[in-house]
Amino acid sequence: MPRPILATIDVGALAHNLNRVARRLADDAPAPARIWAVIKANAYGHGLEAAVRGFAAADGLALLDLDEAVQCRELGWQRPILLLEGFFKPRDLDVLDHYRIGTVVHCHAQMDMLAAYPRPAAIDAHVMLNSGMHRLGFQPGEYRGAFDRARALQSAGVLGLVGKMTHFARADDDLAVTRAQLECFSRVAAGLPGPVSVCNSAAVLAPGLAARVPGEDQWARPGICLYGASPYVGRDADSLGLLPAMTLGSELISVHVLPAGEAIGYGHAFRTDHDMRVGIVACGYADGYPRHAITGTPVTVSGVRTRLVGRVSMDMLSVDLDPVPAADIGSPVILWGDGGPSVDEVAWSSSTIANDLLAGLTHRVPRRIR
Ligand SMILES: *Cc1c(COP(=O)(O)O)cnc(C)c1O
Repeated sequence: MPRPILATIDVGALAHNLNRVARRLADDAPAPARIWAVIKANAYGHGLEAAVRGFAAADGLALLDLDEAVQCRELGWQRPILLLEGFFKPRDLDVLDHYRIGTVVHCHAQMDMLAAYPRPAAIDAHVMLNSGMHRLGFQPGEYRGAFDRARALQSAGVLGLVGKMTHFARADDDLAVTRAQLECFSRVAAGLPGPVSVCNSAAVLAPGLAARVPGEDQWARPGICLYGASPYVGRDADSLGLLPAMTLGSELISVHVLPAGEAIGYGHAFRTDHDMRVGIVACGYADGYPRHAITGTPVTVSGVRTRLVGRVSMDMLSVDLDPVPAADIGSPVILWGDGGPSVDEVAWSSSTIANDLLAGLTHRVPRRIR
């Protein structure tokens, strides 16, 4: 028998969350916005097959890895695909052209590779502006020149569509900064033709923001919210009308009755202060459960909410069974997801965000699509 740990992926929840975002944009954006469903990092840990099925109604898929993009084509995805970091080497361009994969162009080195492409092609390119995050993109002062270069490559028969793009640094916590970035984008890109892509999850769900994005042909780029997790620390996904797409479950594999004063696990980081039943769960940081989760992090055993106690080991963790006296070896445990704590709660108890936990689920955890 394999270990009892399992990640169940709910394709219906993915579709529900996409629909939720689409309705939100329909309420907000002046012109109907389209959606790049962001599926980088193996669809935030959910797997590409589930993503291609769950996001069947999306207008396009956006990711980073060229091999994953090709896999999406092989899984039958026909609509646009966008590489969010662009390409890295000239030979990547053959793959882009062959599989009709669009790309971000964020620097002149990429533009040079396109200019040196020896054959006619029709690669869609989205020219990235650095509007203040200082990660990828052309500086405001060089943007229009870069865009003109892309348009010349379009006329020369190398590029297909040429679009405009930027990315927000603080849409989750500082809308003043976000509005300033958007103003920068609007000023720099004013009058330039082509599709526009600006909003991540936090921006899509922030009331009124998508409505300020200039241009008729807007493409939002939501990621984390499509998986049923919140882009805002302290605000749960449930209140945003989202459903968890991944449920991480396991079982108790051992149970101890400990007298007061016994210490548990590595570093003896938790000590009982009364006679206590403690369960050992087959799930640890090598599965992707956060090692820094604190004592008190919520976990559900046999449908009852209880708490993590002590330090998370590589393959196991300990839970308080006081609230679940009937629990025993084989009792079901939900670490996060449907019927358990939200992945956001677990993330916040570990000083991180849901993106980190979902994308960090490791290869050894089997996924099953529901
Ligand atoms: C990851 C990413 C997104 C999606 O971000 P979320 O916060 O998960 O919605 C959008 N655009 C770019 C460029 C990204 O890298």
